[in-house]
Amino acid sequence: MTTKKPTTQRTKAAPVEEPKCEPCGGTGNVPVTVRVGRKRRPVGTQDGLCLNCFGTGTAA
Ligand SMILES: [Zn+2]
Repeated sequence: MTTKKPTTQRTKAAPVEEPKCEPCGGTGNVPVTVRVGRKRRPVGTQDGLCLNCFGTGTAA
């Protein structure tokens, strides 16, 4: 006797892929260069809110 596996056949609609935000790559954060001093010497980068998607990561 062979046990037949139930066929998992789901009629699922294609997942809607939300377009990723380009500047941040979908993370919602973009590296912002931190500058200090009168010469505006860059001391490093920190995560800043992406102003293109406002942190959502999608280019909707
Ligand atoms: Zn973004």
